Amino acid sequence: MTMQQIVTLSQECGLYDSYDELRAVLMYLHELGEVIYCDKIGDNGMVITNVDWLLNIFRAIIQLKDHRQGSLQAKQDYNIAYKTGKLSRRYVDNALNRFNLDENSKEIILQLMESYDILFCIRNELDDTTEEWQYFVPYLLPRNVKPFDLRKYHASDWLYIGYEKGDIPYGIYHSLLSSCLIQWNNKVVELYYQCAKYYLANDDHYLIIKKEGPYIGLQYCYQKINQLDIGKLVIDKVKNSIFNKRPHDIVKNKLISIVDKRMIKFQGARCRFYVKCNECNEEISIAEEYREEDSNWIRCEYCTQQFASQSLHDWMIYNKELSIERWIDVRDDDPRNYFHSIASCVGIDWTKLATVLDPTIDTEVIEAKHRGHTYNSAIQSLNQWYRRKYPNATLNLLRNALETIDRNDIIIPKEQNS
Ligand SMILES: [Zn+2]
Repeated sequence: MTMQQIVTLSQECGLYDSYDELRAVLMYLHELGEVIYCDKIGDNGMVITNVDWLLNIFRAIIQLKDHRQGSLQAKQDYNIAYKTGKLSRRYVDNALNRFNLDENSKEIILQLMESYDILFCIRNELDDTTEEWQYFVPYLLPRNVKPFDLRKYHASDWLYIGYEKGDIPYGIYHSLLSSCLIQWNNKVVELYYQCAKYYLANDDHYLIIKKEGPYIGLQYCYQKINQLDIGKLVIDKVKNSIFNKRPHDIVKNKLISIVDKRMIKFQGARCRFYVKCNECNEEISIAEEYREEDSNWIRCEYCTQQFASQSLHDWMIYNKELSIERWIDVRDDDPRNYFHSIASCVGIDWTKLATVLDPTIDTEVIEAKHRGHTYNSAIQSLNQWYRRKYPNATLNLLRNALETIDRNDIIIPKEQNS
């Protein structure tokens, strides 16, 4: 029954006092389990007086085993639902057949299921193929899956989104997945209970979204290509896309809008980006703005150590210049792969290292430019060395230079075939 019908009915019986009181009574009956009252659907909400009937309908949709038999088509739909947690409209219609519902009632049922986070609708006009699916049921999504195999991909470090006030519940997370499905709608998506991998077809990369503890984690990855010129094009495209389209901001904004609508206790709470501390592994929130010389360099609020965050580089939160140097080329023995880790721990020895690598590097100029910021100075001197000596700037030279300045603690794996 709609709220309007309930109002009319209670007026006819002489029970109607005020709308607020009626709502209070309905909420009380809802808590007792006598009716189901949902104020999120319809114009003013909906009341279901026959709770068992409704539960039977819910069960009919999400209990797959009832649909193992039947026509070839039905079996096919069952298989897709069983393996992927994704349901087509045809599957839903089949499941609801015996309840004799009209289209309007079906729509209400589906909205109700969505408001309880049981099922999520993909509200988009998908092309009309037999694999078409329009809903996913988190309860049915495969769990305990292995992490995605990314050996053939360059993968960014994780960036997290979270709220100061606490945990992002699964219902919100699944709603976020549904919203991202609409954003990057295509068939290549892989959807699991705790993680999902979207293909951003126009930008040549994948976006992985997972739930980790109280946070939502983000990672992007793209294919390693063993042809330098093509590889370079892909990297440029991905880099531009991350910096200009900012998929992390898209996901964050979607999360904020879902939370604002659905979680009263989070209202007014700040949603922020977090990165993992290199030292203590805690997630720490990052400032909105950094001074230029400090960009990508942060202090952990838990262990008070300072560190250079790979995640800030990869996601280009503050600065486009220093990012993805490590991916510019796909060879494992490229010394640039190690610039970040060396610069993170070399400290004031960066001047010694630069001098050993190339005595013509003017460390005083670099130091003045970065005002004593060792990480950025180290990166710049290493980049300079690489550019000047290319193609003779090898991993071996870098390793020997670290040995010469007694920094054997900075380990670089041995080159193969050398
Ligand atoms: Zn820490």
